[in-house]
Amino acid sequence: MKVVRLVAPPLENNVYIVYDEESKEGCVIDVAQASDEVFSFIRNKDLKIKFIVSTHAHADHTAHNKKIKAMLNNSILVMHEKDAILMKALFDLKYPYIHEPLEYQEPGRYLNEGDALNFGKYELKVIHTPGHTPGSICLYEEKEKVLFSGDTLFQGTYGRVDFPYSSEEEIIKSLKKLSKLPRETLVYPGHGPETRIGLEYWLFSL
Ligand SMILES: [Zn+2]
Ligand SMILES: [Zn+2]
Repeated sequence: MKVVRLVAPPLENNVYIVYDEESKEGCVIDVAQASDEVFSFIRNKDLKIKFIVSTHAHADHTAHNKKIKAMLNNSILVMHEKDAILMKALFDLKYPYIHEPLEYQEPGRYLNEGDALNFGKYELKVIHTPGHTPGSICLYEEKEKVLFSGDTLFQGTYGRVDFPYSSEEEIIKSLKKLSKLPRETLVYPGHGPETRIGLEYWLFSL
């Protein structure tokens, strides 16, 4: 499974393009404000993007959902239902780091715990990890032992819980859930460098 990371300014969002090199099927995780860069990569590689995934509702991750959806007509925008209302509400606000009008994109399908996103020979399993937001999700590829952790788990720490609708209690439960994954699992977070479950020793004493 090929994982390509682009870093989108100004909040250094990690944007992941994940694909199967054989079938060229793939998905985009958290497009942020990088729709042009993502699209030119996809066009160069001639990828067939099946899913545009939002790990949660925050605008730094979802700002270009409508733009990328327009560029990748055959793909479907997916996210957890519990962040749907929040995402819509957040698109009505202004942000110092977004210098263009925000355009809301309705998701094409809502995800739940245990749902699978299939592309080529890979399958990303949805793990519902509320806390940073009510509908935050992580995506786990079991054969490859790779986790996309959004803003739930970062190298050395976890996502902020001082936002409206965040819950410290919930994120602790979610992190305990992630600590049960194999220790060698490679973690690609929504910001900052990658890590492994087993290197985040603090997870095991929560
Ligand atoms: Zn966030
Ligand atoms: Zn973020």
